[in-house]
Amino acid sequence: MLPVPCPFCGVRPETEFVCAGEVLPPRPSDPQAMTDAAWADWVVLRNNTRGEHAERWWHARGCGSWFVLQRNTVTHELLPTDPAVGDLQ
Ligand SMILES: [Zn+2]
Repeated sequence: MLPVPCPFCGVRPETEFVCAGEVLPPRPSDPQAMTDAAWADWVVLRNNTRGEHAERWWHARGCGSWFVLQRNTVTHELLPTDPAVGDLQ
């Protein structure tokens, strides 16, 4: 089981959390002005990073907070970062 460091509760079992995937770039302010290909890229394509990347996590069976963790996709090492999540979209 992966120990997940909640910035509010400390290290808790992975089963208490939901991972919502990598932190996305901000939503385009005017999607109507984008080409279909550019919009599809924003909606569908993800970086699929090898190494460290930022992910959004929800402590669903705990404090209910959203926060961002840095996770190494090779080693699964989790590093706490900013407890505030700006744009959940
Ligand atoms: Zn928590």
